[in-house]
Amino acid sequence: MRTLNREWRGKDTVTDVLSFPIDGLDARAGEARELGDVIICPEHTGDLVEAVVHGVLHLCGYDHERDGGEMLELQQRIVAELRAVVEPTGSGSKSGFVALAGRPNVGKSTLVNQIVGEKVAIVSNRPQTTRRAIRGVASGDDWQLVLVDLPGVQRPRDALTARMQRRVERELEQSDVALLMLSGDQPVGPGDRFIAETIKHGRLPTVTAVNKLDVLDRARTLAALEAAAALDLPGEIYPISARTGAGVRELTEALTTLLPEAPFPYPAGQHTDLPERVRLAELIREQVLRRTRQELPHAVEVEIDEIAERNDGLVVIEANLWAETESQKGILIGGRGRMVREVGTAARAEIERLLGRDVHLDLSVKVRRRWRADDGLLDRLGLE
Ligand code: GDP
Ligand code: MG
Repeated sequence: MRTLNREWRGKDTVTDVLSFPIDGLDARAGEARELGDVIICPEHTGDLVEAVVHGVLHLCGYDHERDGGEMLELQQRIVAELRAVVEPTGSGSKSGFVALAGRPNVGKSTLVNQIVGEKVAIVSNRPQTTRRAIRGVASGDDWQLVLVDLPGVQRPRDALTARMQRRVERELEQSDVALLMLSGDQPVGPGDRFIAETIKHGRLPTVTAVNKLDVLDRARTLAALEAAAALDLPGEIYPISARTGAGVRELTEALTTLLPEAPFPYPAGQHTDLPERVRLAELIREQVLRRTRQELPHAVEVEIDEIAERNDGLVVIEANLWAETESQKGILIGGRGRMVREVGTAARAEIERLLGRDVHLDLSVKVRRRWRADDGLLDRLGLE
């Protein structure tokens, strides 16, 4: 695979799949059309079904590096349909999508990671951290929950926020269960009511979770549960701590009973459907968010430029940090490059944990004015 990559793409790297389309063949009526060759590296591929579909979509002209998520979404749909045919689970298995809704900072990402048992969503105490609808997958013997961590629901302001709003509505439409999350350490406010109304419109089976039990005494817990009940949503209310895990098992069971009977959409060992590139970029962004204040975090986006595997096994990752202005760029670099160095060191440790490999991480800080209003760049970053 390395030799093929070197000879045909000029890249010294091992990839899961390579596709070689055949150009110039006519598709004549009634005649099978040869599209080209798909070459798969079995040692490098987690999932053969996915690799085959991925390769064939490339032959058909799709390109996930340019289409802003279209190919990967189509791939996911085809793979789920194929699996239902190829690997039907025994009757009685339940599975479905749970739309996780709630104000920024109530602990949605923390809950996804807690239920899944692995870090799939980044956690931050800054609002509006989650831009992509992240799917965490948790499985039991006869159930599978697919958690969609929705971006914060709010009034659209710029191109980015408008995209996030459309995404929320679409995710609710395509889900089987809604989970509203409130934070017990804050009063129920207009934001929570707005989200509760959005969920009521969706008419899905619903569960409400009141989070951050660990910082509440008994009286405040009861008050928070009452305030949650006053939202008048259908379904049960569960007090939990996403951080400590208290009450999370009961909540998971409640969600599971609401799932429709269906085969598993993902293999039981899989924890997320986020492409690796996006997961790596999110781990870097998380470290930027930890170290910057106010306006800056949301003005920064991370783009993975190149992932290559050296012969000695070291994984070399090149990433760009996009800022909107020169002064933001200065902050990101920091005095004598201290900020970008710290971000790089911390992100590298997280990435090494995720990949189980030694990593060299190369970060470049760049400026692109108004990237948040730039549809082309948003597409490339996968911010659909
Ligand atoms: P999201 O914006 O809803 O996805 O919220 P996050 O999961 O990113 O969490 C926001 C902040 O709340 C972070 O600082 C978390 O560490 C914190 N947090 C989340 N769950 C809990 C919890 O159960 N207890 C406490 N004390 N803090 C929590
Ligand atoms: Mg989040």
